[in-house]
Amino acid sequence: MEQQQSKPIAFLDLAAVNRAIRPELDGAWSEVVESSAFVGGSFVERFENEFAAYTGSSNCIGVANGTDALELILSGLGIGPGHEVLVPANTFIATAEAVVRVGATPVFVDVDPGTGLITGENIRSGLTERTVAVMAVHLYGQPVDMTEVSAVADEAGIAVIEDAAQAHGATWDGKPVGSFGVAAGFSFYPGKNLGALGDGGAITTNDDALAARIRTLANHGRSSTSRYEHEAVGRNSRLDGLQAAILSQKLRGLDAANAVRREMAASYDKLLPSGLVPLSVSPQAESVFHLYIVRCVGPDRLTVTEALDAADIGWGLHYPVACHLQPAYQPAEPVSHPVAERLTSEILSLPMHPFLTGNDVDRICEVLDGLVAAD
Ligand SMILES: *Cc1c(COP(=O)(O)O)cnc(C)c1O
Repeated sequence: MEQQQSKPIAFLDLAAVNRAIRPELDGAWSEVVESSAFVGGSFVERFENEFAAYTGSSNCIGVANGTDALELILSGLGIGPGHEVLVPANTFIATAEAVVRVGATPVFVDVDPGTGLITGENIRSGLTERTVAVMAVHLYGQPVDMTEVSAVADEAGIAVIEDAAQAHGATWDGKPVGSFGVAAGFSFYPGKNLGALGDGGAITTNDDALAARIRTLANHGRSSTSRYEHEAVGRNSRLDGLQAAILSQKLRGLDAANAVRREMAASYDKLLPSGLVPLSVSPQAESVFHLYIVRCVGPDRLTVTEALDAADIGWGLHYPVACHLQPAYQPAEPVSHPVAERLTSEILSLPMHPFLTGNDVDRICEVLDGLVAAD
């Protein structure tokens, strides 16, 4: 059978991503070691400026990881006990975790069946007099409908916080994510579209006062004007100079890498057999396909994953349990979010990364085609 002579296809080939710019990474690394600017300092400052410009924001604050970024935005806005924050039931758990960490209550809401993302209507369904903000999660690399979400949030008088951890470089209506809400949190976890060689994160915002508060909170509450004065009870969440130098290198290749992802997504869209339905992408959205998701509505998912395993093709599930059904996050009163719950049993993530080739996608779709024909 053909699978015996084919090479495995990785779900994410991180080694290839880093190998391609190994000399640049080595150069960046030794520059930092020479200068000893390990925490804060010139490399972090340079990357913050570059990433602010890239997202069209006036401020960027490097922090230790994406979860901290979200938590620091919430703290900076004064969100805490007694407050409710709307969170899509379909997201990575960190979105909700950040809300709980500041003492506020995540209120999960359902998502759109086509895109898997939060909509204005979903937001309306979760509003109470305690709601202060909504986490607009640009999941899988696709921006949420920021026109509608901003309008509904404005009308309700709540803040929009973007969780852009999976969406570096994505645009809504031609404008980059990270500059729509009051602030946005990014993750530079190695597997993200812009990934460090370890943990990292950033906050972008056009609100200068909020940026200053967050900078203080992330650095032990230290006053920006007096090194020995701690004006708030802060914490330690800082971006390393080493990671910042690596990220500056990688940022240069981000648009090209995202373009390859989009090209591979278009090939999947074209070649996938019926019964495996890609999530829809809004015409105003330019997704960066952090993940490529299909819904298994024909053959059942287990049959599909077994066939992929047999053909040495990687796959993933993002995410197989909705947040409101996670043991640690179940609301006091049981709730049901039928769209998110149905997605958890249908979704399947196919290989997606900037070193995936057209031939790989051809082979993956051939395997899937055989499955549907046999069904
Ligand atoms: C990765 C991720 C985070 C958290 O980022 P870390 O850097 O891992 O802390 C938050 N939200 C979403 C949607 C993510 O995918």
